[in-house]
Amino acid sequence: MLKGKSAVITGSTSGIGLAIAKALAGAGANVMINGFGDAAAIEAERAGLETDFGVRALYSAADMSKGDAIAAMIAEAEAAFGAVDILVNNAGIQFVSPVEDFPPEKWDAIIAINLSAAFHAMRAVVPGMKARKWGRIINTASAHSKVASPFKSAYVAAKHGIDGLTKTVALEVATHGITANSISPGYVWTPLVEKQIPDTMAARGLTREQVINDVLLTAQPTKEFVTVEQVAALALFLCSDAAAQMTGTNLSMDGGWTAG
Ligand code: NAD
Repeated sequence: MLKGKSAVITGSTSGIGLAIAKALAGAGANVMINGFGDAAAIEAERAGLETDFGVRALYSAADMSKGDAIAAMIAEAEAAFGAVDILVNNAGIQFVSPVEDFPPEKWDAIIAINLSAAFHAMRAVVPGMKARKWGRIINTASAHSKVASPFKSAYVAAKHGIDGLTKTVALEVATHGITANSISPGYVWTPLVEKQIPDTMAARGLTREQVINDVLLTAQPTKEFVTVEQVAALALFLCSDAAAQMTGTNLSMDGGWTAG
């Protein structure tokens, strides 16, 4: 489906981004992955994408908190692949604290990585997408782009912001064959979440099931995690011709969280 297309997926050395990279590569797209982590592990993932799916896979270490680095990453992908047809803005970080104690540098980092990075990447890819009259922009938002939770002021502000940014760009590029959409997962089963369970069990004297249902999944009516593969399948669908008329939407995949 995506043979001949090329994609940049930010924050794709683990979790949701890596699953999206695999789904797009599985459909035939060349991919540039990005993010931090152990160099050997990242190289293994990059090489695996090439051998498993027969596509070209590149890695960029660009820091999504830096506009110049983001522009350089897009330029590098365009030079290597000849185009960036699909952009997935997925890199994200979290910090939890009451607003009066929220460290300003954490606020700045979350706004930069979770929101401004998407602006820098989109402004860099749109001219090429317009010239080729085809493009797919997918932004990983969150249930927190629709509802708030206490102590997540920066994250909720950034995710509400990405919803507005996505809708604005969608309107600007609507007649150019380019779509821009957000995906808003609830709690997704990633290594990040798995690692929190033993600590929470010990800290609160709870069983694993209690931590999952009464702490992590209180907001999620299905009481089940979203999987990274489910999010990736939705991203892949948004790249298909069937989704050509879907633009400016914010698609929930949250086990019913935001229905309540
Ligand atoms: P993750 O920690 O597994 O992945 C985050 C990725 O972003 C990693 O590859 C990391 O290296 C990269 N990254 C972080 N800071 C970066 C920077 N400055 N420059 C470049 N890359 C950077 O987390 P995840 O759960 O897969 O999250 C991915 C996205 O999904 C985020 O935007 C997050 O807000 C969103 N999300 C996650 C959940 C969840 O429950 N896991 C729910 C809703 C939304």
